[in-house]
Amino acid sequence: MANFRTHISVAAVASGLLATVCLGAGLATPQEVVIFSVIGTLGGILPDIDLNHSSPTKITFTSLAIIFAFLVMFNRAPAYSILELWLIWGFSYAIIRYLAWQIFTQFTVHRGIIHSIACALFFWFLTTTLCYYLFDFGKISSWMTGFFIFFGFVVHLLLDEIYSVDFMNYRLKNSFGTALKLIDYKNYQTSTLMVLATIAVFYMTPSADTFIALLTNSHTYQNIIHSFLPQGLWFQM
Ligand SMILES: [Zn+2]
Repeated sequence: MANFRTHISVAAVASGLLATVCLGAGLATPQEVVIFSVIGTLGGILPDIDLNHSSPTKITFTSLAIIFAFLVMFNRAPAYSILELWLIWGFSYAIIRYLAWQIFTQFTVHRGIIHSIACALFFWFLTTTLCYYLFDFGKISSWMTGFFIFFGFVVHLLLDEIYSVDFMNYRLKNSFGTALKLIDYKNYQTSTLMVLATIAVFYMTPSADTFIALLTNSHTYQNIIHSFLPQGLWFQM
């Protein structure tokens, strides 16, 4: 498997590149590009939260908790006093860093259900739902942010699979096929639970109509092609 540093670097580069494509295509504002890149990078380290008590898991949960706490706090900022905001921040941080962490470390097996497309979709829909209802993002922004978590997540799974091919000896390591899979074929009980949770959270997401319309609109792709290469000289202002 790929190590933590490889995962974080590859996810950061991949999400940064994709977020820049979104900027060029007029799908994202410069602020959103920053959010999407950070979220994509986080998606890229998220699957290894099933490595119980390891430092990557702690780093992932700490970063998740910090981002979550800030988003919750920003959203309440106009209405509350500083002291209330501090309390909201601390409470939100503790929920993810300690409560969610406890739950995850108790119920997950490394390279089990968390390393699956079903789980990647779960985090996509969960992020979209949180962005829309808790952080007051617009519908398109919520779907895009969720998509970047999914994107980083899939990059992680792909990277784990690539690392399970031994290029020197042209053979597959035992870990081959344990990262990029639809569900956990070895454990149908957790797989069923994950699929049900994914369906449940999908039903909570806001309408995807505008997001799908954007993705299926030929203008979006024409914009990407149009803005891909410089029109005149390179780096001319
Ligand atoms: Zn992994």
